[in-house]
Amino acid sequence: MKRRDFIARASGGVVASSAIVAAPAVIEKPKIQWRMVTTWPKNFPGLGSGASLLAKFISEASGGRLQVKVYGAGEIVPALESMDAVANGTVEMGHGAPYYWKGKVPAAQYIAAMPFGLTAQEQNAWFQYGGGQALADRIYAELGCKFFPSGNTGVQMGGWFNKRMNSLEDYKGLKMRIPGLGGEVVKAAGGTPVLLAGGDIPPALQSGAIDATEWVGPYNDLAFGLYKSAKYYYYPGWHEPGTVLDNFVNLKAWEKLPANLKEIVKAANTAANSMVLSEFVARNNASLATLVNKHGVKVLRFPDEILNGLGTVSGEVLSDLTSRDALSKEVFQSLLKFRKNAIGWSRLSEQTYLAARSLPFKYGT
Ligand code: CA
Repeated sequence: MKRRDFIARASGGVVASSAIVAAPAVIEKPKIQWRMVTTWPKNFPGLGSGASLLAKFISEASGGRLQVKVYGAGEIVPALESMDAVANGTVEMGHGAPYYWKGKVPAAQYIAAMPFGLTAQEQNAWFQYGGGQALADRIYAELGCKFFPSGNTGVQMGGWFNKRMNSLEDYKGLKMRIPGLGGEVVKAAGGTPVLLAGGDIPPALQSGAIDATEWVGPYNDLAFGLYKSAKYYYYPGWHEPGTVLDNFVNLKAWEKLPANLKEIVKAANTAANSMVLSEFVARNNASLATLVNKHGVKVLRFPDEILNGLGTVSGEVLSDLTSRDALSKEVFQSLLKFRKNAIGWSRLSEQTYLAARSLPFKYGT
């Protein structure tokens, strides 16, 4: 029966039910207002974009039923207290990077970036089809939060150095700003990893308080002016091949959210995740050209001897660290399995294609 006929009959008294024929009452749905703290300065290029995109998407897609307002680092709490603020319900949402929370749950750093681990595309595939989301949700549940991947930097650069890096020996005594698991590897190679927040890096490099630093890639490194204080810009960023940014939601606030708003938050994160990576790819391309052509930066590839050495040390360090924590071990084993299959396929796809594209043939004008 068509709805029109049904209503006609109903109002004709065949099916008398006021509930059916009454005009639907307009019920104003309650508006929910959330605050999102971030580990980034407000509107920070690339890294901060995910938070801004996310808030805008959620607020607009929900027709204002769930409104999210972004607060930069230091506005409500300092950058690295973002997780506490979300976990204890001071605010409902946060945006940062999983390795910042390794002091609370060590397994968090494995889903951020693993030396010689997964690329951005592989990492997303692991979250969506490789069991990664479920493992990440377990890690974040320990923090009292729900997890979403919410941006990715893509392959980072190896860092800025004032001496040439010829062999693994050159890491001995090297004071380098490098966070997370990459720092553990540098330490095992004989260096001294230093953890500095972004804004403290340029003066430390300039004064010689550190010998070397990594930050992100051409886009962010150019903005910081790191080329002014270091001669050589090394690649690839073996330590952060596809660094994940996280959106974390207070678990109680998340569970109270109606199903349709949950879907909007999920979709917003999927969109932000993809947009952030696109921003990095587009801006890195242009910024690399500026660094080389305008600032005369010497861009050097790490010799295979160093990469091979760091790869071996990484395998040892990661296995050793995970042996002390059951959840880290489970996450590491899952990533290892995914990585093994990813190497099998990427050898025939991305890796071979990119090498083919770099052959010296003439293409276009
Ligand atoms: Ca980095």
